[in-house]
Amino acid sequence: MGNILAIVGRPNVGKSTLFNRFTGTREAIVDAQSGVTRDRHYGHSDWNGIEFSVIDTGGVMLNSEDVFEQAIISQVEMAIEEADVLLFLVDGREGLTPLDQDVAKMIRRSKKKSFLAVNKIDTPDMSHEVAEFYSLGLDGVFPISANNGSGTGDLLDEVVKEFENKTVEEVETELPRIAVVGRPNVGKSSFINALLGAERNIVTPLAGTTRDSIFTPFKGFGFDFMLIDTAGLRRKAKVHEDIEFYSVMRAIRSIESSDVCFLLIDATQGFESQDQNIFGLITKNHKGCVIMVNKWDLVEKDTMSTKHHEEAIRKEIAPFTDVPIVFTSVHTKQRIHKALTTAIEVHENRSKKISTRLLNDTLLPLFHESPPPMYKGKQIKIKYVTQIKTAYPSFVIFCNLPQYVKDPYKRFVENRLREQFNFKGVPIEIYFRKK
Ligand code: GDP
Ligand code: GDP
Repeated sequence: MGNILAIVGRPNVGKSTLFNRFTGTREAIVDAQSGVTRDRHYGHSDWNGIEFSVIDTGGVMLNSEDVFEQAIISQVEMAIEEADVLLFLVDGREGLTPLDQDVAKMIRRSKKKSFLAVNKIDTPDMSHEVAEFYSLGLDGVFPISANNGSGTGDLLDEVVKEFENKTVEEVETELPRIAVVGRPNVGKSSFINALLGAERNIVTPLAGTTRDSIFTPFKGFGFDFMLIDTAGLRRKAKVHEDIEFYSVMRAIRSIESSDVCFLLIDATQGFESQDQNIFGLITKNHKGCVIMVNKWDLVEKDTMSTKHHEEAIRKEIAPFTDVPIVFTSVHTKQRIHKALTTAIEVHENRSKKISTRLLNDTLLPLFHESPPPMYKGKQIKIKYVTQIKTAYPSFVIFCNLPQYVKDPYKRFVENRLREQFNFKGVPIEIYFRKK
């Protein structure tokens, strides 16, 4: 149904090291509230051109010093329930433990697609350490070193085959697919209920979709779209709903399935690191975004309130600040219509195709007026610009020396594109290529 890889395993086996390797970064985030630095535990990756989300379940679940077996067990339960593919990581140096056996049993019973990676096999002469793990009875055993990367390429080759064959559950529709995401308690369910409760026109789930479908057609007030509602998904395990893990998995699932996301934030709390994480997932997945500052009824307002709030948010989401921000109250129904209109506009911006001729007529004069700076004494000449056929806006700029074009000039190009053609709310990609 989607492309979510969950890494599970005991503490200290190397989950976060592997996560950092897969996501290619060691990004730490600063929690705006507490001021403490926390590692990121979910991110975006691609291998052989296939994009997927990675979640380090250990990091999400277990930020306390005390790690109980039960916590690990429920981490695995949740990963089985929510992820598409499991990566069970064990420690080849420490050897097989009883807890590894328990986890393996759960995975075998679940029939979930899984891989077993035996970590810390840093050199070929250590490969014999892997043998005992075959007794776990799991398919796909890979000796790897999260530290130096050996074996991880072979592992990823196999992992992405699982994703390749799966497309995001696509209802046959040309309608915009709109998701509602955000931290717990920001008002997502209230918003969805307000939409769905308000209109009797709601059609029953489309024929052929399962009970677990996350798409609900919405028609009314002049709008016609697919609402993505992962909160309504049936849940199997009896674990606490409010666990961050769930909200993260559901958010990833929603984002992957969407064209445009409403990112709800709580007006009384401001834009926090969690909000920033979700915003990052939306943009990395190239989805459109509308920031909806909800519970606006609770904020004491003066003439500058919206302006101040907007500025604060834009500072947090920089450098991608060309995103609409709408101040709403689901309780008083303030600007709900405006929010929907904005999401539809963002969808139009994201679907927009600009002819090569118009692109060049508009942009080339601007590029020629401000060419890329000389590099190593060489002049970079832009020849032409064209939009390529992708679900989201991406552009190729042909020039003589693409390797010398640096980030500041890419930003310049992006800003000109945004000024001239309106891509509000939409991440765009720009590639420089030699003709
Ligand atoms: P987590 O608790 O499962 O997320 O584990 P960490 O990623 O924090 O790693 C725990 C420890 O194992 C750290 O000291 C890592 O440096 C170490 N480690 C992780 N991967 C490897 C590896 O491939 N080889 C070796 N020798 N050590 C590793
Ligand atoms: P979710 O966890 O994001 O789905 O959030 P809920 O929809 O469950 O809402 C969390 C709480 O915030 C509930 O008590 C709602 O009644 C309340 N809430 C939601 N939207 C608003 C709003 O616009 N204004 C106010 N004052 N409260 C709201």
